[in-house]
Amino acid sequence: MARKFFVGGNWKCNGTSEEVKKIVSILNDGKVASADVVDVVVSPPFVFLPLVKSSLRPEFHVAAQNCWVKKGGAYTGEISAEMLVNLDIPWVILGHSERRQLLSESNEASCLCAKRLYFVGDKVAYALSKGLKVIACVGETLEQRESGATMDVVAAQTKAIAERISDWTNVVVAYEPVWAIGTGKVATPAQAQEVHSELRKWLQTNVSADVAASTRIIYGGSVSGANCKELAAQPDVDGFLVGGASLKPEFVDIINAAT
Ligand code: PEP
Repeated sequence: MARKFFVGGNWKCNGTSEEVKKIVSILNDGKVASADVVDVVVSPPFVFLPLVKSSLRPEFHVAAQNCWVKKGGAYTGEISAEMLVNLDIPWVILGHSERRQLLSESNEASCLCAKRLYFVGDKVAYALSKGLKVIACVGETLEQRESGATMDVVAAQTKAIAERISDWTNVVVAYEPVWAIGTGKVATPAQAQEVHSELRKWLQTNVSADVAASTRIIYGGSVSGANCKELAAQPDVDGFLVGGASLKPEFVDIINAAT
């Protein structure tokens, strides 16, 4: 089954409105493959979503970098899935490792203020139920890789999502080894392919052959204009989630990596 290439740009907590306008104008001027060939989704900080959405070329889409785990209400500082839908924001990134690590979001329960509040699987299920499309991030730490636990970790993170959803149509899975994020230490094409292929097998065994064949598994972690083509050539690498390089003109080259 053909899977359309997908390139996401995670701008993280960066930018002023002036800088955001500059990035948007680089993207708008970029010569990129057609929308039939690649899905492009950029994820600015919440406050810039309306600006980016209204000024970005129409074939590119926007994503929020997070949303609350359930209906909004008395959750100061949070943004609900309903609010994103209300602003016509189609995508959300959930389970990014910076949130899992720095803010203790986890597969299952974690403790923030001794309350079991943050569940990546629940967030994914809730966001999907409200009509959002989700980029769900999984990935191991260096310690976990070195101890041979990569697939156990990635499978457990994926299972926490799989147990809560039944329709994978609007899910893109981002394999993002934590040791590769923002470090300049990119996974080799063989390392990425190995995990992507194992993850696809996991989906086949634990979800369904159809979901395994159709779900896009994208790679994230120090992707650049220089390394994207070799990674994109791997059969199970269906695109990228890009951090640092998505703020630079080379993001256009990454969008074109598979063409
Ligand atoms: C990310 O933040 O999802 C990411 C992959 O970052 P970077 O490309 O900078 O490693």
